[in-house]
Amino acid sequence: MTSDIQRIVVIGGGQAGGHACKTLRAAGFDGHLVVIAEEPHDFYERPPLSKASITADAPLPRLFSASSLAELDIDWRRPQRAIAIDRAAQHVVLDDATRLPYDRLLIATGSRPRLPVAEWASLDRVMTLRSWNDACLLKERLANSRRVGVIGGGWIGLEVASSARQLGLQVDVFERDPALCGRSVGTEVAQAIRELHEHNGVGLSLAHRDIRLSEERDGRVTIKANGKAPEPYDLVVVGTGVEINLELARDAGLKTEYGIVVDAAGHTSDPRVFAAGDVAQHPHLGLCLQSWAYAQNQARVVASAMLGEKAHYDEPAWLWSDQHGVNIQILGVPSGATHGVIRHAPEGPIFFYLDADHRLVQMVAFDQPRAIKLGKRWLASQRVLDPNALADPDFELMSLR
Ligand code: NAP
Repeated sequence: MTSDIQRIVVIGGGQAGGHACKTLRAAGFDGHLVVIAEEPHDFYERPPLSKASITADAPLPRLFSASSLAELDIDWRRPQRAIAIDRAAQHVVLDDATRLPYDRLLIATGSRPRLPVAEWASLDRVMTLRSWNDACLLKERLANSRRVGVIGGGWIGLEVASSARQLGLQVDVFERDPALCGRSVGTEVAQAIRELHEHNGVGLSLAHRDIRLSEERDGRVTIKANGKAPEPYDLVVVGTGVEINLELARDAGLKTEYGIVVDAAGHTSDPRVFAAGDVAQHPHLGLCLQSWAYAQNQARVVASAMLGEKAHYDEPAWLWSDQHGVNIQILGVPSGATHGVIRHAPEGPIFFYLDADHRLVQMVAFDQPRAIKLGKRWLASQRVLDPNALADPDFELMSLR
């Protein structure tokens, strides 16, 4: 570790910020560690927010125990906003005009829900889900609802739909694409997810380019799609993607595209400034992955690099989702696939997407985490696979370890 690093500032108190702090201390950084966070809570994980946090009496899903957190010896600035990065002076400026000096800075500002129509924010019973406070409000509102409308058939929308069904509510999902989760999975997987939701009583309205919301006199919300409007909803949850919180980095003159441009060690275009999590554009894929695994593992690598260690992030994209009691895991991204193979195994289907040389590009497995672990090895070793064997449910996949 280089000795010129005495003061590290982390902007963002989310999953990436939390894992970076933990790694910094574990690697021996004993200087001043400041975390600026907009939320008042300790570091927490977001995956439960659309699941157990709204269906059960689950506490804040803390990232670390109270004692582990105390050991990190963080100088918290919360709830506060960083409003500028003065790179020449190596200061972060807070909303109360405090200037925090840094030797190394980590930007882990994440993302925020995107509303397709700004006016929807003024409708009382229309909400988004991102934070613990959002989840608490959603839970309270679900308890007082009979019918729930969901705008957006992506991960948030489908997980909320599944949770609402678990609570016994009527749910309709409105998606503008003809397929669900169209950005992250192929048509076969989208169809399987569709069948899962239909089987569990979720109403699906797809391919609606023009969705309009209006408030009834009693506060309920009407969703009008392609000119038709079913009975109004007690609550509408919008999950139509995110805006990356890029402004600080852009205003500070750092190189940005979809996110902050970083290398595999999280370096931005300023050697003293690093970026991690949702806001850090993936070094090879050229997109912001926005997944739990990336926020955790890329942030750990970046924290090591901040202390001058040789570090390199090269994991494949991986995310999971739990819907209607089924665990869906997605490994890799769909680009580059030339053909798909479906394996109808008794435990659940597996979808393999291969390139022209029969190497794995993406794999989606329903309720088969062991197969995904195997897929991670195939991706790492660039293994050439036999599509006929993959499709045969009697063929033992584990023989390809
Ligand atoms: P998302 O997964 O990108 O899905 C948003 C969906 O809404 C897309 O299908 C999108 O279609 C659709 N959409 C966009 N504008 C619309 C409109 N005006 N009307 C109807 N549909 C519209 O984003 P998200 O579900 O909001 O989730 C937010 C972030 O959290 C994402 O980064 C997601 O990956 C992450 N997340 C991950 C998990 C997990 O890993 N299990 C769970 C929850 C959230 P287009 O593709 O056509 O834009």
